[in-house]
Amino acid sequence: MELACLDLEGVLIPEIWIAFAEKTGIDALKATTRDIPDYDVLMKQRLRILDEHGYGLDAIQEVIGELDPLPGAKEFLDWLRERFQVVILSDTFYEFAMPLMAKLGHPTLLCHKLEVDDQGKITNYLLRQRDPKRQSVRAFQLLNYRVVATGDSYNDTTMLAQAEQGILFHAPDNVIAEFPQFPAVHTYDELKEEFRKASLRAI
Ligand SMILES: [Mg+2]
Repeated sequence: MELACLDLEGVLIPEIWIAFAEKTGIDALKATTRDIPDYDVLMKQRLRILDEHGYGLDAIQEVIGELDPLPGAKEFLDWLRERFQVVILSDTFYEFAMPLMAKLGHPTLLCHKLEVDDQGKITNYLLRQRDPKRQSVRAFQLLNYRVVATGDSYNDTTMLAQAEQGILFHAPDNVIAEFPQFPAVHTYDELKEEFRKASLRAI
C-alpha cells in the first residue's frame, strides 16, 4: 500500500504568513524562521503583532479566505488523490489553513492548533509533537504503508528522508544543493512524473 504525504505551504498554497502580511500591509509579519530561528520566539512575536493590530481569529480567517491555492494545485491534488491515499503534513495551524483547505476539496490535514479565548483572541499555539512530519511518516510505515513525500523547505527534509522516496518541489537553490539525494522539480507536471517514478504501481 502506498501513501502520498505532501507539505502544504509552498507546495499547494502560498506561505500563509507572507500572504497575510502582504494583504494587510503589516510588514513585520513577513519575518520567518530564516530571520528568527527560534520558532517559539517567532510565533510569540507574530501573535503579539496580530493582537496589536486588533486581528482576532475571525479577521485573520477572513483575510486568509481571500487567498487562493497556487495555480494548478487543485488539479494536481485531484490527480494525485485518484492514484494515492493523500495526507497533508503541515506546520501551519488548523484555524489558519481551513479556509484554504475548503478550496482544495478538504483533503486530510495533520498540523498544529491555536488556543483562542472567548473574544476570539489567539492566546497561544499548541504544536502536535516534535518533528511532526517525520513522526507521521514513521507512523504510516508502521501501518505498512510505503510513503512518497514531497515538500519545499528545511522543515520537510526529515520527512523526505524518512519516506521511501522524497521529492523536493519548488525548493530554493540552497535546499536543493544541500539535499542532492532528493530529485528536485518545479512544475506540477514534473511532480506527477516523479510520483509515477516513485510508485511501485503503474499509475
Ligand atoms: Mg512548505
